[in-house]
Amino acid sequence: MASPAPTSSAAWYALRRTLPVWSFAENLRELTACLPRYGVDELVVKVDTEEFSHGQVPLDWARAYQPKLLALRDALAEIGVAYSLNPWITVGHCDRGRDGRAHVPHLRPMVGHDGTECTCCACPLSTAWREHTTELWTLYAQTQPRVLWVEDDIRTFNHEPIKFGCFCSEHLARFGVRVGRPVTRPELVAALLQPGTPHPWRQLFLDLQSEIMNETVAFLAQIVHRVSPTTSLGLMSSGPRQHCLEGRRWAPFARALADGATLYSRPPLANYWEESLRGFYYSHDSIKITRHCLPPDTVEQTEVENIPFTRYSKSTAFTFLQMAISFAYGSQGVTLNLFDHAGTPMENEPAFGRLLAEKKPLLNALAAHASRPGAYRGVQLVFDESASHHRQLRPGAGYGELAADGEPAMTLLETHGIPTTYSPERVAVAMGQQLRGFSDVQLLALLGRDRGLLLDATAARTLCERGFGELIGVESIAPAQMVDDLPSRPLVAEELHHPDFGGADKRLLTLTLPNLMSRPSLGVLAPAPSARVVSHFVDPEGRRIHPGATAYENRLGGRVYVHALDWATSYGVAFNHPFRAAQLQTAVRWLSRDAAPLLVSGDGVYPLAFRKDLPSETLLGLFNLSLDPWQDTQFTLADTRQPLTPLLLSADGHWQESPLLSLAPGTSGHWRLSHGGRIPFDAPLFVRIPWAASA
Ligand SMILES: [Zn+2]
Repeated sequence: MASPAPTSSAAWYALRRTLPVWSFAENLRELTACLPRYGVDELVVKVDTEEFSHGQVPLDWARAYQPKLLALRDALAEIGVAYSLNPWITVGHCDRGRDGRAHVPHLRPMVGHDGTECTCCACPLSTAWREHTTELWTLYAQTQPRVLWVEDDIRTFNHEPIKFGCFCSEHLARFGVRVGRPVTRPELVAALLQPGTPHPWRQLFLDLQSEIMNETVAFLAQIVHRVSPTTSLGLMSSGPRQHCLEGRRWAPFARALADGATLYSRPPLANYWEESLRGFYYSHDSIKITRHCLPPDTVEQTEVENIPFTRYSKSTAFTFLQMAISFAYGSQGVTLNLFDHAGTPMENEPAFGRLLAEKKPLLNALAAHASRPGAYRGVQLVFDESASHHRQLRPGAGYGELAADGEPAMTLLETHGIPTTYSPERVAVAMGQQLRGFSDVQLLALLGRDRGLLLDATAARTLCERGFGELIGVESIAPAQMVDDLPSRPLVAEELHHPDFGGADKRLLTLTLPNLMSRPSLGVLAPAPSARVVSHFVDPEGRRIHPGATAYENRLGGRVYVHALDWATSYGVAFNHPFRAAQLQTAVRWLSRDAAPLLVSGDGVYPLAFRKDLPSETLLGLFNLSLDPWQDTQFTLADTRQPLTPLLLSADGHWQESPLLSLAPGTSGHWRLSHGGRIPFDAPLFVRIPWAASA
């Protein structure tokens, strides 16, 4: 039997740890002494990892290592810690000077779109790799781990030194069968990157790649389940927008990998080393968007990882925040890759172990509520896993431009106190080419009665090309163009002037975007006569030259707000501003007909806020992603129910009433929760609002 899932912790810690052969006994002794003290529930053993990886794992090495894994599993069982296994490679992440053919003769390596060949990373169709993997993964499965993790190298991009592929002889031959004639790599790549309307080969090739990967993960799962039917498969992934590069179809991929068992998911939180708290906008979104793509019964353990494993790379405070974000956003567990793969004792850097133990009560109390089934509320972000089928490329576009749009839309809303979600909501947002693959029926649903849609210039242009200009209040909008190339140059600022939309005369936002060293693009827009122009782009004399944003209610009863900036080239640090918060929050309030699920304001910047609705309560939270503390924080919630006394989560993990909290009715159908204290970056705020049972 595979070892059972731990049940003691709501906030489930899974430590990922390598035990090199030369320090195995010492590392194991330390683990058995320290894991209970750290509050760790599960050990995920990494095999043949990073610096001391052989490249492709030699079978005789793995046979010699297997008894150690069995001894470790039994030692963990004695202290009540679950055992899982994480081979460091599947096909391989990178070559780093290794040659896979040293241990797997006849291995066919991956070939990049530019013809570069790996020496170590294997094409998943390689017969030699499959024969080798069958024997190797059988050895792994014989240790009966609870979860056997498949790394994110199970993809067709980022296998250093190649970027995109595989375009090996076998991949090309299979593609040739699909199109009925032999095809060369340069001919295929040129078709994939054809500017403008996508070449029909693009979808054919993306579909072929995706089918091959589905078949490859089914192959892995079947090896495991032949030996250990109760072991679950786990998937580390690289973010759904990136997986559009290879055309991943998430449902069949997940089905093939799960092979009838519970599937585990390890979404990346990135920020492998600490740069800015603002990196958490990506981290939290990665949890949400990966969950959106996977089946609803998937178990999540996020990836909290520190490279290279000391506090020089990442502080304990930053590590804690990644853990807290994981649990606040509903993940069942965290995987913790905090210590090196060279056998250095964990207690050489004791701060991490102390952190895990100290924060467990708080995280348990948070996870006990946040992991319950419910809905995260906000503005709806759209994601289309087939975006790369439809994306129109500019001349000279690189392969990487097949990745999906959308991250700036998420970040610019969250930074201004407007939470986002991938669940259906009344107000949706789209930027760039995100809607290009949507059917007319899907688009009409976004534009229909009582709906609200927030668009950037390029998304508005896409809808006009599709014949929906009339429904978004736009007579015409030119393709977004770099601001200094427009005939009407120079344009210097956006004047947010409309008093009903957060504006006033000479309320100016810079067009030096996205930062001091860059320039934005914008679309010259001709609004419908009944659209309200709420801002203008102005010249150095302050003259209003082109509409900057429009608000329009269409004949179906849907509302649309178009921002004539191209967010992909405009969004960055200079975009953010208190006036921008007023612009965006007012837009969302208007689009939702004053029923936005949550808007956050206060004396602070860079909020990361959330609202989760559970059957009888609402969970609210605020992470402060600035070094200055937040003060006088206000949460404005649309809700017609009657609240009971709100409860604040204390640092030691207790939900309790607090004089810092006050809850009062706002405008009709709203509640305003105020927090009168300071919210420093390292002490996020969590509040529960219980709702009275309706009469
Ligand atoms: Zn290949």
